[in-house]
Amino acid sequence: MSQNSSRTAGRHFLNIPGPTPVPDRILRAMDMPVLDHRGPEFARLGKRVLEGMKTIFKCAGPVIIYPASGTGAWEAALSNTLSPGDKVLMVETGHFATLWKNMALKLGLEPEFIATDWRTGADPKLIETRLREDKDHTIKAVCVVHNETSTGCVTHVGEVRKAIDAAKHPALLLADTISSLGSIDYRHDEWGVDVTVGGSQKGLMLPPGLSFNALSDKAIAVAKNAKLPKSFWGWEEMIANNKNGFFPYTPATNMLYALAEAIDMLHEEGLENVFARHDRHAEATRRAAKAWGLEIWCREPRDYSSSLTTLLMPAGHDADAFRKTALAHFDVSLGTGLSKLAGKVFRIGHLGDTNDLTIIGALAGVEMGLGLAGVPHRQGGVQAAMDYFAAEAKGNARAAA
Ligand SMILES: *Cc1c(COP(=O)(O)O)cnc(C)c1O
Repeated sequence: MSQNSSRTAGRHFLNIPGPTPVPDRILRAMDMPVLDHRGPEFARLGKRVLEGMKTIFKCAGPVIIYPASGTGAWEAALSNTLSPGDKVLMVETGHFATLWKNMALKLGLEPEFIATDWRTGADPKLIETRLREDKDHTIKAVCVVHNETSTGCVTHVGEVRKAIDAAKHPALLLADTISSLGSIDYRHDEWGVDVTVGGSQKGLMLPPGLSFNALSDKAIAVAKNAKLPKSFWGWEEMIANNKNGFFPYTPATNMLYALAEAIDMLHEEGLENVFARHDRHAEATRRAAKAWGLEIWCREPRDYSSSLTTLLMPAGHDADAFRKTALAHFDVSLGTGLSKLAGKVFRIGHLGDTNDLTIIGALAGVEMGLGLAGVPHRQGGVQAAMDYFAAEAKGNARAAA
């Protein structure tokens, strides 16, 4: 960026792990006159997105769509299923798990927080052990974050369900997929999740402003007797109105046009291909990090996130000063370290509408930024990522021949 210019040419590289770049197709889809949200045209749009989201969560039951950020859908998940004083079992996988736990406290629940060092996903064995001890079934829900966006570690949600079942415990399973939906494989029904929480601005490629609850039959049944106060977040009125494609209050109409387009785009590419693309971009990023000699924060390769990669700064170097340099010179936004990781790590978001060359561009911004900021590293990260992409392309060409 020139020192004396009020314009920056080209596209900004938004490589934070959400919000993510919004495709032009989605921007055009929402560029529509605002419509009557109680009219027949809206009902068609409402039904289209309510049905469409089931194919993204992979669920048969209802999906609730809120005009709210993901935090709202967290509150909805807790307040619709639980009563004051209920015990909930949560795992301290990072900053977002901690925020959800703090919300549970504020709502009058009694969260029990299994500690970790923030460098892995949640351990299903620890969950199983704790549930086996809970003979009176005082724990009413287990809450996990599928992709912990502060650390770049994944929790294997299907294994958490198996742990709950192995302990023969009736607790509900609540999962946050705000930064994994549409980028990492997720199966609400198959994994026996009761409430899945999602958001619009990460893997779904939309602007911020929508969030979701996907529900199981058990969650809907439990909700009938849940006593936490709720009004705006209540599922019952939503489900009743949604049956005809409508909402109990004014929905974010233009965001729903965008959502319909995003669902179409994910299916045109094919969800399996979307997940494989994210895996590939994550692997390229890790290969670059290895070449630079920077440590990947997530300690367990099995838990590596395909949405983002968190990298540890060499001791004595401030991650935020480096991020500032990369932004000022190369117009790339990288994720900051959150709470106890502030200054110590930075995060490279590689989720959403991203291709091999945009990843190479972002990695080039990181590599040049490391040099300019005087951070000790080896060169060749971008080359390692290019070599990997080229080898993958060759393999695909051979497979297609
Ligand atoms: C972004 C994020 C949130 C918070 O969502 P908001 O839309 O900012 O309210 C919660 N959990 C995870 C895992 C996230 O990545």
